[in-house]
Amino acid sequence: MFKALVMDQNNDGLASASIKDLTLDDLPNAEVTVAVEYSTVNYKDGLCLSAKGGGLVRKYPHIPGIDFAGTVEASDDDRYKPGDKVVLTGWRVGEAHWGGYGQKARVKADWLVPLPEGLTPQQAMAVGTAGFTSMLSVMALEDHGLKPGNGPVLVTGAAGGVGSVAVAILANLGYEVAGVTGRPESGDYLKSLGATQIVAREELNETVKRPLESENWAGCVDAVGGAMLARVLGQMKYGGSVAAVGLAGGAALPATVIPFLLRGVNLLGIDSVMQPYDNRLRAWQRIAKDLPMDKLEAMVKPATLSDLPQLGADILQGQVQGRVVVDVN
Ligand code: NDP
Repeated sequence: MFKALVMDQNNDGLASASIKDLTLDDLPNAEVTVAVEYSTVNYKDGLCLSAKGGGLVRKYPHIPGIDFAGTVEASDDDRYKPGDKVVLTGWRVGEAHWGGYGQKARVKADWLVPLPEGLTPQQAMAVGTAGFTSMLSVMALEDHGLKPGNGPVLVTGAAGGVGSVAVAILANLGYEVAGVTGRPESGDYLKSLGATQIVAREELNETVKRPLESENWAGCVDAVGGAMLARVLGQMKYGGSVAAVGLAGGAALPATVIPFLLRGVNLLGIDSVMQPYDNRLRAWQRIAKDLPMDKLEAMVKPATLSDLPQLGADILQGQVQGRVVVDVN
C-alpha cells in the first residue's frame, strides 16, 4: 500500500482531492516504478488541482504532480535499475498521466533523467519544472547573444517560482537583474536572491501606448505574458531577446511588430514539457553548476500531501513566493 493525493470527480463534473491508500496494481502500466521522495507545486499543478482540472486533466480518478524525484524501485528498461536516483519533469505527467503526488509513480523510461550529480532529490524538486524552465530561458537568451555587461536583464513574475530561480541564476552568472513584482513586500526577498532593481508591476501592466519606449533591457525572462510582455518588447535594447515562458498575467499578446522590425528584438518561445533528452541533461547540469544552493534553499517552503489543495489555490492567485517542496512521505 502507498499514499497518494487522488482527484475524484463528482456528478457535476467537479473534481476534489483526498489522500487515499493505493496498491502498486492501481498504477498505470509503464516501464519504471519509482519510490517518490519529493514533488513540488508549479502553476500548472494549481490548474490540475482545481475543480475543473484547468483543462489539462484528461480523466479521473487522477494523481496530479507534474514533477517528482525519487529512487527507482523496479525497471523493465536497461537504462534504469533499482536504486537509481531519478527526476521527472514534463511529458504531461500529472496532467494526462498520473503524477508525483503519491509515494509511488510508474512512468516511461524516456521521461526520466538521472538525478544530476551534486543535487539531492529535495533540491531537484526545489528546482522542479519552474526552475528547469528558468534555466532553459537563460540558455536560450545566451544562445541569442546575451552576456553579462550587455545591460540589465528583466525578470517578470519575479517572486514566483520561475522568476525566483531565474533571478538567482542570472545574478550568479554576473548579470544585473531587475525583478518585476506585484508584491512590494517581496522586494527584500528578491534582493537577497541577487536582484539589484525592483520594478513595480503597475509600471508595466498597462497596454502598449507607444510601440517603442526607452531601451532598458538587454534580456528578459517573462513568466507573465499579456500586456506586460507587450510593454517589455517595446523596452528592449537593440538586438535584445525575451524568453516567453508563462501566462500568469494572460495569454493575449497586445503588441505591435515594431520592436522586431526597428530594434531586431527576438521573442523566444520556451517549452519545458517536450524538451528533448539531451537538452534536458544540459539544463540540469547547468542548474547544478550555476544555481547557488544557498539561494535555492532560501526560496523553499516545505509542504506535505495534505497541504496541496490549498497551495494549488494559492499559486493560481499568485500567492506562493518562491518554490514549494512537497515531502510525499
Ligand atoms: P508562480 O505563481 O509561482 O509565479 C507567477 C508569478 O507571476 C507570481 O508569483 C506573480 O509574481 C506574477 N503574477 C501573478 N499574476 C499576475 C498578474 N495577473 N499580472 C502580473 N504578474 C502576475 O508560477 P510559476 O513560476 O510556477 O509559473 C509562472 C508561469 O510560467 C505560469 O504561467 C506557468 O504556466 C508558466 N510556466 C511555463 C512553462 C513552460 O514550459 N513554458 C514551465 C513552467 C511554468 P509577483 O508576485 O512577483 O508579481
